Amino acid sequence: MPYKGHKTITVRESIFRTLDQLWKEKGQNKYRSFSSWINELLTYVIERNVIIQLVSPYLEPIGANRDTVYIKDHKRNKMAEIIVKNSRLYCKLCRTDYCIHIAFSVALPEVAIILNTHLNLAEKLDETDMLSK
Ligand SMILES: [Zn+2]
Repeated sequence: MPYKGHKTITVRESIFRTLDQLWKEKGQNKYRSFSSWINELLTYVIERNVIIQLVSPYLEPIGANRDTVYIKDHKRNKMAEIIVKNSRLYCKLCRTDYCIHIAFSVALPEVAIILNTHLNLAEKLDETDMLSK
């Protein structure tokens, strides 16, 4: 039985194992329980998605593959393809390395994966430089 004010959900075992591993590696020191950590994690994800939607209500992440993140621009009714070009994020729709699609995309985990795959230096990426142009 869950505590008062709480509900129980069911997740796939593979997801639970991943969360349990992350909890042991990163969450155990900061939170008093696995449940508290999961609640904080889900709150962060929800708030992040709400903020992204508020800032750019007409942009929608559609998907990604190994090389490209796809963002639907409902205002222009076009698909923005974000790739890595010359060690920088590049929007094929706007033909630039700085536009609203690039700014939007840096909040997406898919972009971090692509940067890490292509540059193997995501940890060295200076986002300030990327956004200050
Ligand atoms: Zn763009």
